[in-house]
Amino acid sequence: MLTATSLQRQLLKWFDQYGRKNLPWQANKTPYRVWVAEIMLQQTQVATVIPYYLRFMTTFPTLQHLANAPLDTVLHLWTGLGYYSRAKNLHRTANMIMQEYNGHFPDHLEQLTTLPGIGTSTAGAILACAFNRKATILDGNVKRVLTRLYGIENPINDKKTQTQLWEIAKQLTPTKRIADYTQAMMDLGATVCTRRKPTCKACPLHKNCIANKNDLTLQIPYKTREKPKPIKQTGFLILQYKQEILLERRVMKGVWQGLWSFPETKVPITLSKLKKALQAEFNNIAIYTTHMLPTFRRTFSHYHLDITPIHLTITKRSNKKIAKEQQIWYSLQSETSIGLPKPVKQLLDQLL
Ligand code: SF4
Repeated sequence: MLTATSLQRQLLKWFDQYGRKNLPWQANKTPYRVWVAEIMLQQTQVATVIPYYLRFMTTFPTLQHLANAPLDTVLHLWTGLGYYSRAKNLHRTANMIMQEYNGHFPDHLEQLTTLPGIGTSTAGAILACAFNRKATILDGNVKRVLTRLYGIENPINDKKTQTQLWEIAKQLTPTKRIADYTQAMMDLGATVCTRRKPTCKACPLHKNCIANKNDLTLQIPYKTREKPKPIKQTGFLILQYKQEILLERRVMKGVWQGLWSFPETKVPITLSKLKKALQAEFNNIAIYTTHMLPTFRRTFSHYHLDITPIHLTITKRSNKKIAKEQQIWYSLQSETSIGLPKPVKQLLDQLL
């Protein structure tokens, strides 16, 4: 098997020639810029992240700008990127660093991992890439490379495998060129050792890779079979008055916490029942047209959600006073600075 030194040498040689060196967060490197990138890159690919990252940095060029911003503005910039708890954790962490560390980004693993949203791997990436300190990362890409390289046939989500991977990753971590090595590992997983189509011929480690030798690159990493997810159903009530749509702030539990979405109803529902329910909820409302849109599915970690949007145009708005904190009439023409779940944003864009 390859020694740590020769793996580092081969990987860094490959990185010098093929590694990514012009990503937005690699310019003007600061812990803040690296941290935001690392959080955005969790569960999201580089190409998707770049425009969000650039907008985020223009609006919040420093940690202080982020800490001082209203959460709704942060969520607004996150709209469409998914996993919104990342945005809330960024905001909370920025405030904690301002208050507890006087605005100086902590540079120790133990400190970093106490901050919301920063796990051991993200802390390792910040230390290695921003502070050039010896630290280990083990994100999804790196896990895939290592399970294949070492031919690990135990399921990747098994606790034992995770411990084994951390041990291997630590042993391989060099003391020199730590930022380049870290980036090289991430690049190899993202561009060569990809999930569905690894290009082993272009891989600097192919001669020593067990999965490649045994023709198992598409089987490894193995996963334990997941239980089928339950399917839930809901109806989005898109209440439109002229060019305004009624939105509600979602409660701080379940999915899309604290984001703005449409009022919901149980489905299936008959039109007469729906009208009755709306009259009760929004007194004095006059419904003009009702239109069912096709049902679509969103999948979360624990269930599938089948959403049926019901578009209702109304000629007379409810005279019930709405609590501004919880409900707003959202103008389709002037984008309000609030966080919207992706399907809500897509439906609003369709209405425009
Ligand atoms: S040889 Fe193929 S499977 Fe092995 S690490 Fe390289 S790209 Fe991944």
